[in-house]
Amino acid sequence: MALLVHKYGGTSVGTIERIHRVADKVAKAKGEGHSLVVVLSAMSGETDRLITLAHEVTKHPDEREMDMLLSTGERVTIALLAMELRGRGIDARSFTGRQVGIITDSAHTKARIARVAADRIREALKQGVIPIVAGFQGINEQSDVTTLGRGGSDLTAVALAAALKADRCVIYTDVDGIYTADPNIVPAARRLDKISYEEMLELASLGAKVLQSRSVEFAAKFNVPLEVQSSFTEGKGTLVVKEDADMERVTVSGVTGDRNQAKVTIVGVPDRPGIAARIFGPIADASVLVDMIIQNVSQASLTDMSFTIPRADLPKATSLVKRIAKDIDAKSVAVTESIAKVSLVGVGMRTHSGVAAKMFEVLSKEDINIMMISTSEIKISCVIGEKHLQQAMRALHKAFGLDGKAPKS
Ligand code: ADP
Ligand code: ASP
Ligand code: MG
Repeated sequence: MALLVHKYGGTSVGTIERIHRVADKVAKAKGEGHSLVVVLSAMSGETDRLITLAHEVTKHPDEREMDMLLSTGERVTIALLAMELRGRGIDARSFTGRQVGIITDSAHTKARIARVAADRIREALKQGVIPIVAGFQGINEQSDVTTLGRGGSDLTAVALAAALKADRCVIYTDVDGIYTADPNIVPAARRLDKISYEEMLELASLGAKVLQSRSVEFAAKFNVPLEVQSSFTEGKGTLVVKEDADMERVTVSGVTGDRNQAKVTIVGVPDRPGIAARIFGPIADASVLVDMIIQNVSQASLTDMSFTIPRADLPKATSLVKRIAKDIDAKSVAVTESIAKVSLVGVGMRTHSGVAAKMFEVLSKEDINIMMISTSEIKISCVIGEKHLQQAMRALHKAFGLDGKAPKS
């Protein structure tokens, strides 16, 4: 008998019919004698719908109020599943983030978990009740509702699994595991039987939304046994595990793409010491995460500085950067949203050379221009035109030998 945390994502609870199927799975696990905690997302599309509503009310919605609004999506699904289970004679109870005691900082819409009390969950488990927990939400020290960033129900599940020392945290979703690339973009992608926390963290941070990156970070830190499975079909999924010796033999484990980036260029920046700090200091103070930075060769003591930021931060960043440009006597500011980042990830890159060169060659053969490059020990990313992303991902997937063979283990 094990203690399991099950998390069902938006598509898995997207209709009443699907909620019935989740109830079937929960009933089955209970029937097998397991103790179970269930974490749910809002119905698919609901969080987006709420965000659109907010923007119809005002251009820059207040972030505290945004969290109040967004947290409602998950309340709907937890109540419906608990009702359904109780209707079947299974003792289940729904709990909000506040009731679970998920305490976060006050960074509304992207709050970080500070601690998880989970007293009521332990109590429920002791009484044989199945707790059905609202994902994605917590409260700050003032008891204001916070949310954990998009995809944050994964984090709720992992954090609860860590707090309860669960035997396994299973993320049920609309694909049957973690693939060498998003199977909806690269049809030749293959399901992996296992992947290291480190590689999954890179993939998730670089755009593979099958797991929220913070949830992977948390799972690695607290050694949470994590698995991704399909909520629609039975069968094997993917285990996220500690790195083992096999993994280094494969140079590239996955290809991923990210469309949620934007590029900002400050044109005609005076090239003198201290300028970079004057540009990036205020941007960091505004909590805008800068990813890649490129400074062009200086001509006549003037240079161009380009950098990428999350697309969602563009409105905030543009007005700020325009102010900075004026302060430092730069000529102008140019902004483009039509970029994307394509990345290769693999722990094998530590021991294999030539990956970057091959990546550039593949992109060049596809006639795709590279605007920016960044590398770390186990990843290489290139910024390219957004319209080329799918083509780039497919070509790289093929060139690095990832196209469909027998599943890699
Ligand atoms: P949920 O609503 O269940 O949380 P998400 O939409 O957040 O589901 O994540 C599942 C999706 O992640 C898949 O439908 C797939 O398109 C996408 N995805 C991106 N990269 C990968 C990958 N490497 N392996 C599997 N799925 C991926
Ligand atoms: N409902 C939230 C979102 O759409 C959280 C989640 O689904 O994990 O981002
Ligand atoms: Mg998700």
